[in-house]
Amino acid sequence: MKITNVRTAVIAGNFPWVLVRVETDGGVTGLGEAYWGAGVAELVHRAKPLLIGEDPTNIAKLMFVMERSLSGEGSQAGVTTTALSGIEIALWDLLGRMHKLPISTFFGGRFREKIRIYADCHEGDTHDPADYAKRARDVVAAGFTAIKFDLDNQNPYTLDLTDNDHSRRHWVEPFNRHIGEQELAWMVSVAKAVKEAVGPEIMVAMDAHWKYGVNDAIKLAQALEPLNLLWLEDPVPPINIEAQRHVTHSTRTPICTGENLYLAQGFRELIEKQAARIIAPDIPKMGGLLEFKKVADHANLYYIPMAPHNVASPIGTVACSHVCAAISNFLVIEYHAHDVPWWADLVEQDMIVDGHITVNDRPGHGLTLNEDVARAHLKKGSSYFGDEPTA
Ligand code: MG
Repeated sequence: MKITNVRTAVIAGNFPWVLVRVETDGGVTGLGEAYWGAGVAELVHRAKPLLIGEDPTNIAKLMFVMERSLSGEGSQAGVTTTALSGIEIALWDLLGRMHKLPISTFFGGRFREKIRIYADCHEGDTHDPADYAKRARDVVAAGFTAIKFDLDNQNPYTLDLTDNDHSRRHWVEPFNRHIGEQELAWMVSVAKAVKEAVGPEIMVAMDAHWKYGVNDAIKLAQALEPLNLLWLEDPVPPINIEAQRHVTHSTRTPICTGENLYLAQGFRELIEKQAARIIAPDIPKMGGLLEFKKVADHANLYYIPMAPHNVASPIGTVACSHVCAAISNFLVIEYHAHDVPWWADLVEQDMIVDGHITVNDRPGHGLTLNEDVARAHLKKGSSYFGDEPTA
């Protein structure tokens, strides 16, 4: 069996979901998804000449050749790796459909049949901690057993630099990675309100989106310690591993990071220095299912659990769930689309039930796209699995 074509369709979800279809002369096709970004769909099409005529089962070799040809080895080029991730996931789906086996089988079989999802709740309607608590109760009532909020947005004590009212000059200036005393107190009050609203049985994580410096990140993490959070995510920027390690080793609040790192090499130092307690690769962005498995197995040597970042459609989410089922050190995977009512309608199959995805036994990832829904939400200018990325 040989690859005959590679096509894309970009769906306008809460992010542009870049769907990738790999076709063969045997009539079997595979459907994958890449993380969003400018040029991702175009790069998928740039890879096409490297795939046509090739045996689709040589997944690792094809990835190696595409990486070398499109970005060069070691470049850790973000957008290229992202595009190749979408192709890679399509190839695993194709392999599964060829052999009539679920993707999880190719990664060693399953530790679990159900994958726990955490709902990203973002923030409350206002900065009042009571509104965060209300949002938390609503999401938990929908069946989720793990949730996450953003701690770095809506802070009423962060100075708006466009505001010339000098009476507010005690507020904290953004950009300088500092957390003021009132700002810190607000963050703790939000986390406390959420925890108290949902009780000890619900896992609660908080995200800080790389905003703070080392000492202030430590102050924040230590102030949150009595709340026993599932994790505090990205309190410092992700690149300086020594700085990251210093924060992680200074608090018993588990520090989580990883959504902006690429390829197994990109995670090596983070793991070997035990600079994070929980690692959150974005699988359709960082290199795909096999690359994620390498990171998960490496992390497991240090007893570090995996909590993949995920903003994908059902296609990417379920493909990732198959490999999450196949690693012992899986903790939870993100669901970012609680506010997208048609998210699950994009496919024919049932999706999240009681905050979990049941890993199905159908070939590949096991999902069939609902063409009507996909076409109805096609991103403006994108073709529906056309020969070119745009119409
Ligand atoms: Mg995050």
